[in-house]
Amino acid sequence: MAKIRTLRSVAQLREAGLIRAGRVAALEEVAARYAVALPPALAALVDRDDPQDPIAKQFVPDARELETGAHELADPIGDDAHSPVPGIVHRYPDRVLLKLTQTCAVYCRFCFRRETVGKPQTSGRAALAAALDYIRTHNEIWEVILTGGDPLVLSTRRLRAVLQALGAITHVKVVRFHTRLPIAEPVRITPDLVRAIKASGKATYVAVHVNHARELTDAARAACARMADAGLALLGQSVLLAGVNDTPEAMRGLMRALVECRIKPYYLHHADLAPGTSHLRTDIATGQALMRDLRGHVSGLCQPAYVLDIPGGHGKSPIGPNYLERAGSNGSAHYVVEDFGGSRHHYLSR
Ligand code: SF4
Repeated sequence: MAKIRTLRSVAQLREAGLIRAGRVAALEEVAARYAVALPPALAALVDRDDPQDPIAKQFVPDARELETGAHELADPIGDDAHSPVPGIVHRYPDRVLLKLTQTCAVYCRFCFRRETVGKPQTSGRAALAAALDYIRTHNEIWEVILTGGDPLVLSTRRLRAVLQALGAITHVKVVRFHTRLPIAEPVRITPDLVRAIKASGKATYVAVHVNHARELTDAARAACARMADAGLALLGQSVLLAGVNDTPEAMRGLMRALVECRIKPYYLHHADLAPGTSHLRTDIATGQALMRDLRGHVSGLCQPAYVLDIPGGHGKSPIGPNYLERAGSNGSAHYVVEDFGGSRHHYLSR
């Protein structure tokens, strides 16, 4: 039987029954602009009979991606404004992003780095050495966040070398990966890779990007279990997306599925202003209503922080609902607090 490969072109998506013949020409234009890759594990999840399928919405190109709004931005979270050397983003005092690659196993249609991911790599070994030197010479860096692209697509040998270099930097105490690989290609989360990404002497976290409970297949759950069993702490990061997880049922299901996999929901991102993604964004009020619903209906373990990355590189701010109001004048200890059912209660704080 022929090996099923990652689908990387409109023709291959068409052949796999994921797009209709009439859409090919428009989608060729999308694919020429933004990278396309759909690995077999995710292609198999798409319900070809459902035009509103939440998996297809995330990964199959859409002609609306050619419509760039006036307020959409090539660098929506302002990485470039905080990049002292190639591959490093130093936005907050105690932590940096280290971008190891521009490649991903799957290209998400809403990606906030869609102008750079999947494009030819502009930096190589010398740039990585300079980035590691930057971390070495900045004692205030407590945490290194390995991102990209998807850092786990690198070979185990290269990942081991990076982790060994970070392991030798005494002021770095925490290493965090952000990845889609356990969902996109779970078989690549091998015991050897898991050993390689555990930085010696550092707390190692893996933030797994998941937007719908269906992405957590048996194989993906097994991949996450391999990491959790090896002592890696797992976090969940999700993006609020129209038609994917913007209903209470879908959001509750997602958060519960994450927790069942020992993945603590960490961030629910409001979708960034990436070019050609307005059809996937929701209003902030929708996100706040979903957060209220989570608070009332699912375990405290299932509560992520709903955050917005402020355009221009100003960092993340929590934008979830507020449950507390001061009842008196400034300086008063008297508050009104709302419970999960919407009832309000007076509270004297001292
Ligand atoms: S895996 Fe992450 S970096 Fe890669 S396309 Fe998806 S959102 Fe972007």
